Amino acid sequence: MSTQIFAYIEHHAGAADDSALELISAARKIDPQARVTALVFGSGQELDAVCKEAAATYPTVWKVDKEELAYPNAEIIRGMLINLLPKDCICLVPHDTFGMDLAPGLSVKLDSACVTDVVDIEGADGDTLKTVRQEFGGQVSTHVNCDISRGTVITVRTGSFAADEDRSAQGQVEDKSGEAGQVEVKRKFLEVVEAEMGEVDITKEDILVSVGRGIGEEENIELAEELAQAMGGVVSCSRPIVDAKWMEKSRQVGTSGQTVKPKVYLALGISGSFQHMGGVKGNPFIVAVNTNPKAPIFQVAEVGIVEDAVEFAPALTEKIKEMK
Ligand SMILES: Cc1cc2nc3c(=O)[nH]c(=O)nc-3n(C[C@H](O)[C@H](O)[C@H](O)COP(=O)(O)OP(=O)(O)OC[C@H]3O[C@@H](n4cnc5c(N)ncnc54)[C@H](O)[C@@H]3O)c2cc1C
Repeated sequence: MSTQIFAYIEHHAGAADDSALELISAARKIDPQARVTALVFGSGQELDAVCKEAAATYPTVWKVDKEELAYPNAEIIRGMLINLLPKDCICLVPHDTFGMDLAPGLSVKLDSACVTDVVDIEGADGDTLKTVRQEFGGQVSTHVNCDISRGTVITVRTGSFAADEDRSAQGQVEDKSGEAGQVEVKRKFLEVVEAEMGEVDITKEDILVSVGRGIGEEENIELAEELAQAMGGVVSCSRPIVDAKWMEKSRQVGTSGQTVKPKVYLALGISGSFQHMGGVKGNPFIVAVNTNPKAPIFQVAEVGIVEDAVEFAPALTEKIKEMK
């Protein structure tokens, strides 16, 4: 396949986001032989550190270093990508708030197709790329074929592709700052507002017992707390629990909550929406307890238990106490 493939690398504080390693796996499902180019935009020393990291995975890294890129403003980056990218390329972007902001307008300006929230790629057959998306909270898979002859922008759901752990690429970093040009924008970056941290920092914990809507009532959260204590962990939750004001926002796992990297993630009554699982990183050992055997979380869980979480949690707590 002759189409060039690019991957947009998100980063924070001088470190590439985990999605950088997932996008190259997605690219290899399009073309196993592809020489994928990483696109790294930012400014200063932090950007250099990210480029170095990306070059360990990607054979080519295009770096764009500009003061106005200190904060990732999708409007500026879109303008620069239009100046840089060949019109018939495939550009992979993480499907998060930034990617959703960047991708549609980019595809319009490149006059290419746009497929969003892709969870799998079944390969390319000539000019037809076969992708898979999910509908109805993961209950239904949709197969989307798209014509890549005029290029395609694809947003890739985080956590859907295994991270490529090979760090032997020794890629070449090419400075494209000049070619990226200057972009006039209407949107202005004001400040970063960090989320408030509660008494417990779930991002630092190795063991999380996470409760979702399936826990039923606020009083039942105590069962999860007792289990977490027995396991030596803490309780986190899904968004409906925070919306119901049963737990603080600082305990919410997900794309609009915290990104956690535990070793063990025990999910009680959580369906496994991508917005929730998007916050579960670092390849933990996932155990899911859910009454619905078709719940999407069972697709990512190492151990799946079809059971009432309200009955299961105290039973497991007792068992752990007995074993101790
Ligand atoms: C822009 C945006 C951002 C979002 N950000 C986040 C986010 O950061 N984090 C987040 O979590 N969500 C987020 N969401 C919401 C997300 O889409 C889901 O609605 C949410 O994750 C669902 O939470 P849940 O799994 O607890 O509830 P549900 O989807 O309602 O699932 C409850 C599950 O419990 C099971 N169940 C029911 N009773 C029992 C029982 N007795 N025992 C065991 N299992 C039982 C059910 O079978 C079901 O699978 C976001 C949504 C949007 C649109």
